[in-house]
Amino acid sequence: MRFILWDEAKGEGHQLVTKTIGLLGLSNKIVDFNTTDNPLLYLREHHIYQADLSPQNPAPYFTPGNNAQPAATLFTNISALITGTPGPQTRTEQCQFYATGTLPASFNSFVYPPGSNAGDIGYWNVFYDQAGNESYDYANDAGGYTSNVINWNAANAAVYNGEFAPGGTFKTMADGYSEVFYELYQQALAAANASGVNLVLQQQTRLHSIWLENGAITYRLANASDPYAPATSPTTTDCAFLAMPPNPIQLVAEATRYLDNTGRVDVLNQSAVQLYLQSVILQPSFRILMFFDQPWWQNTTYPPKLTDAKGTPNIFGPTITDIPLRQIYYFGNNSPGNSNPVYGVLASYDDMQFTQFWQDLETPLNTHRSIPLSEDFQPIIGPRDATESMVRMVRLELAKVHYGDPNAAWQIPEPLESKYMDFSLNPFAAGYHAWSSHYDICDVMQKIRKPTLLIPGADAHLYITGSAFSNDQAWVEGAFCTAESVLRDFLGVPTIAETANYPLICGCTS
Ligand SMILES: Cc1cc2nc3c(=O)[nH]c(=O)nc-3n(C[C@H](O)[C@H](O)[C@H](O)COP(=O)(O)OP(=O)(O)OC[C@H]3O[C@@H](n4cnc5c(N)ncnc54)[C@H](O)[C@@H]3O)c2cc1C
Repeated sequence: MRFILWDEAKGEGHQLVTKTIGLLGLSNKIVDFNTTDNPLLYLREHHIYQADLSPQNPAPYFTPGNNAQPAATLFTNISALITGTPGPQTRTEQCQFYATGTLPASFNSFVYPPGSNAGDIGYWNVFYDQAGNESYDYANDAGGYTSNVINWNAANAAVYNGEFAPGGTFKTMADGYSEVFYELYQQALAAANASGVNLVLQQQTRLHSIWLENGAITYRLANASDPYAPATSPTTTDCAFLAMPPNPIQLVAEATRYLDNTGRVDVLNQSAVQLYLQSVILQPSFRILMFFDQPWWQNTTYPPKLTDAKGTPNIFGPTITDIPLRQIYYFGNNSPGNSNPVYGVLASYDDMQFTQFWQDLETPLNTHRSIPLSEDFQPIIGPRDATESMVRMVRLELAKVHYGDPNAAWQIPEPLESKYMDFSLNPFAAGYHAWSSHYDICDVMQKIRKPTLLIPGADAHLYITGSAFSNDQAWVEGAFCTAESVLRDFLGVPTIAETANYPLICGCTS
């Protein structure tokens, strides 16, 4: 996992994550996460290194001009058509564009007149309208992320896709990103103990249902062993944070809806709250991690270029494909100093419809499913061993990518170990989230944090935080920003952020 180091001078990057790492005393553990700006592309059975794209050597898509350049250029051009030039530069301007941005006067379209609200247009719709299907397919395939080109909010997509391209400057932690969260918990626990606060982490327990009764937040819990059955009597609390994405919240809402709610306020099922809970699109994703005893990809017909002209070490990839692997990262020797090296490869880094391709292979060959998909909680249980058929399918596809020949599958060595994570399963039902069109993103961001703001006559310290409803979806920064904004705006806690030019969440309609 990676983050973008905060650059105070430029006002760019992940400010809260960077400052949190600093305050935890972990800055000395920050290391580079180098991605290549010359990925190997395997598209429509063709192998091309991105730097070799040219009018004489275009990508195999019938989109003259676009196919001679990286897909990032096409994304940038579409963004410029939607936002006009220059587009919104600062976070504040971007938020303003989400709320009130319109297609520029120069916009040329049969469907969308100039001046149409960009936030009320689907990104796929406008991309097709402006560039056609072949360009769309090229952007989808060569961009690596199908989640970036779905029919999400065009105002938000134009800003996000205008910035995101392989080769960005990322950082991670020497001992893994999870170190930040481990240390955050340890230091919070120590601080709580020092000030006489009883901080209890209750694992293997889930929030089952939640409502307001006589104005008090009232809830029941369930045990992980029987997660849909309430295991506690109704209990009240002064303040509750639902620090979770939309699908887990909907599972809590479903359990609450069918209780006897006479005289209660069923906050999560109020129509106005549901309207805002459904303002983001769930984006399933899937990862297959493999470990090998050798860096076999270095000696293939089409190896990834994992060094650059400057000799930068530890470039991890990606390779980008249009086959279900989608993206591949090569993490080098995970066991330095050990006489038996172990090379990690994120062999499939995919999203949206590609998760279904792999999901079928989760169940071993000649075996029937034994538990309902809805009760397979793999993502919270942890990475699961890949089945033999899944491993073979990965090797078959890796052979196409690196040898151009499925019959070379045997040349991809048998991995030492293979694990998968299926983020399309419950409770998350998504790896990331994207804002829908036809919503005022800023208003949703502001009000979903305290859903009783959407219910006349109700007021409770019941909060929703998380990256799904943030300005930095699919980033930890978004989760931190929404939580920080609740602490600051509703509970009076001073923020660690410099917010003059870095709104924690969009504030354009408040
Ligand atoms: C494959 C993948 C790669 C990613 N890579 C990066 C990256 O490199 N850098 C980056 O910054 N971000 C990355 N992200 C995004 C990042 O992981 C999320 O943005 C972040 O975890 C969101 O945090 P959150 O607090 O909103 O929700 P979550 O992290 O989803 O936390 C919600 C928590 O609520 C718990 N929960 C659910 N239901 C209940 C219930 N009923 N009762 C109690 N608890 C419940 C869940 O178990 C979970 O612990 C990645 C995401 C994925 C899927």
